[in-house]
Amino acid sequence: MLELWAHVVQTISVVLTFVLGHDSDFRTPSTCFKVSRDIGYLAACLDTFTVPRGYYNTITYDMAQPIGTQREDWKTSINTLLSVDGNCSLASVPVSLHGLYDIAPFQDFCVLFETSSRCGTYLKGWGFMIVPSRRRAVARDVHISAPHPHFDGGTVEQAASVFYSTRSSSLLVAGRARNAFMSPSSCIKSGSMTGAYYRTDPAHNNEEPFFDASIAIHEWQHRRSGCPSRSCGFLQFHGKGTLTCASDHVFLSTGLGNSSSSQSWYTDNVDRPVKRLQRNLRHSFPSWTVSLPSDSQCPLTATKNVFGRHLNGIGVPHVCSKAATSRLATGEFIHAEQAPISRNPSHYEAWSKAVVDTFEATCSEGMVLDAETKLCIPHVGSDLENDQHAGYTMQGLHPDRSRWYTVLFSFLLM
Ligand SMILES: [Zn+2]
Repeated sequence: MLELWAHVVQTISVVLTFVLGHDSDFRTPSTCFKVSRDIGYLAACLDTFTVPRGYYNTITYDMAQPIGTQREDWKTSINTLLSVDGNCSLASVPVSLHGLYDIAPFQDFCVLFETSSRCGTYLKGWGFMIVPSRRRAVARDVHISAPHPHFDGGTVEQAASVFYSTRSSSLLVAGRARNAFMSPSSCIKSGSMTGAYYRTDPAHNNEEPFFDASIAIHEWQHRRSGCPSRSCGFLQFHGKGTLTCASDHVFLSTGLGNSSSSQSWYTDNVDRPVKRLQRNLRHSFPSWTVSLPSDSQCPLTATKNVFGRHLNGIGVPHVCSKAATSRLATGEFIHAEQAPISRNPSHYEAWSKAVVDTFEATCSEGMVLDAETKLCIPHVGSDLENDQHAGYTMQGLHPDRSRWYTVLFSFLLM
């Protein structure tokens, strides 16, 4: 019934757009802040503006790319967002991004997002990022991302849910479908199982703003406290078709492939985040096959993932041409390829439990570890004890989150 209404409202909106002219935008990303009931809905709502498949040609893609100081200012905005502690409303983006991007509060979070759109699609499509607005709400130095919205279905909602439930440091979501511009990436040239890598695929093109944002997050984390293996990592959520690597429900990789030295990296007795996550996911999902490249012939090993390469010690200028090696690999990068069932909302909670068990909590001053949830709660007797914002509320997100629900209400309340 709800879907029928959504369809009716959408049809009316398309007709109105046609009548009023293409410059009339009566639903904008800012509407999402008014209609979303939690961070999961907000992420799903912002994702409806993602630049879709086949949208760009050379001219429109170039127009959507950062110009002048914008690329550096985009990274500055990421830094500003990560540094917010308390008053999100005071944070702002540099002048070159005025009218395009903004930083705004949402419940107990702070959000960097694109404000500009045209007929329901982002004008630029550089993505959005969410952090807890108070640093003490963060329990672990884990940075979660979804690089392939629309293409890897369900990963945006899943990433948002796991980010929330694990009290991780940040959530980054790309703003363009990987096939939004079907021109081959000049960074990573050779094809994959699915064919060429496109220019709008941020996992395989260092010119995409998602890559710049990832680099800024990594630099910030290392400036702040480094990235110790026991408590810190960068987790990318991906989705594969049921028939691709069919025997693996989840295929994890750190960006190293199947060579013998890589195999030893995965099987030696050095403790690594990706090995712990495999163990904990197997515990969460006992009937599933959760593999590393040392267990499975699955070729989705992410050896060409440009951010993964950088995390594994390849300098930014060389990420297109040099692969990571087992000698340099830090293990900070976790690439999760998942069958559709693993991205199902019914498994968000078990996924979050596995992530919580993989990364030790690092609680801020005045906060202590809750032994059961492994999240940070105000210390008894501390000033924060009666501060309801010290850690955001403990209940999970609404389970049957529907994109249509949010889209429908964003139309009604615009
Ligand atoms: Zn992917």
